[in-house]
Amino acid sequence: AKEEGRGAVRFYEAVMNAQLQARLQLEQELAGATERGELVLHYQPIVNGVTGEVETFEALIRWMHPTRGMVPPMEFIPMAEECGLIDGIGRWVIEAACREAAGWSHPWRVSFNVSPRQFQHTDICAVLGDALRTHGIAPARVVVEVTEGILIEDADEAVATLNRLREMGVRIALDDFGTGYSSLSYLQLFQFDKFKIDKSFVRTLGQSDRALTLTRTIVNLGHNLGLQVTAEGVETQAQLDILRSLGCDQIQGYLVARPAPIDAFTDLDRLRTKA
Ligand code: C2E
Ligand code: CA
Ligand code: CA
Ligand code: CA
Repeated sequence: AKEEGRGAVRFYEAVMNAQLQARLQLEQELAGATERGELVLHYQPIVNGVTGEVETFEALIRWMHPTRGMVPPMEFIPMAEECGLIDGIGRWVIEAACREAAGWSHPWRVSFNVSPRQFQHTDICAVLGDALRTHGIAPARVVVEVTEGILIEDADEAVATLNRLREMGVRIALDDFGTGYSSLSYLQLFQFDKFKIDKSFVRTLGQSDRALTLTRTIVNLGHNLGLQVTAEGVETQAQLDILRSLGCDQIQGYLVARPAPIDAFTDLDRLRTKA
């Protein structure tokens, strides 16, 4: 039995080692991904809740791995946050989003995600300011999406940065609204431009009265605070009908379109009639 136990431990260690090795390898590969041109931005349209017109494209990062194929952000952004690679990747996202948006056939807004660690460590204002100047983008075209996580470590510092972004003329969206663990008191610290209702609320709309009540409450809270409300993860016509009846300002989700390279969005009238 003792032998068996030792065997199990050795097996366990081997598995742990293999996992650690795999993780270290992925980290190393990610470290060179930007230079090798393996990172790309896909875009998902955010449409007006009433007219269905495209207002904004959200940039969502993908890693085109030479052997693994397309790696979704949930599989490398958290890792990038832990090992410090997020700063370089985040700079790349801002620069690439501005460069690409400058070449679009229409001046839609462009939004991008900034993770808490990136918000804390990078001088977002300087990086974004440079990108806007270099590519001749008006700050009013840009929406920065942050989560309440940016306010956890040093709220004063974070609010100062948000205010500087606001002074630049950039809009600030509060992403994943309703999924964090903090109280609503942080809403006293800063006037966001919009809430994005997380898809976990939208998913059960139409199935549960509770989801409906919560969603209605979030929309009303946003409107009472003078901001716009966007629903993400809208997949069905039933969800869309409810969100419209609640007065939700903007709609984003597979029902309208999945994230894709910007060239995929040539037929925007089709998107409009769908929403
Ligand atoms: P998020 O900012 O909340 O983005 C929304 C996610 O929901 C995206 O996943 C999008 O593809 C997905 N989505 C959109 N519509 C639907 C729908 O109708 N149904 C369902 N089930 N999903 C939908 P994605 O692209 O995999 O990104 C996941 C998360 O990764 C993002 O969540 C964001 O937190 C993070 N992320 C993406 N790009 C970046 C980036 O450039 N920088 C940072 N820091 N984080 C990023
Ligand atoms: Ca987002
Ligand atoms: Ca979300
Ligand atoms: Ca998010």
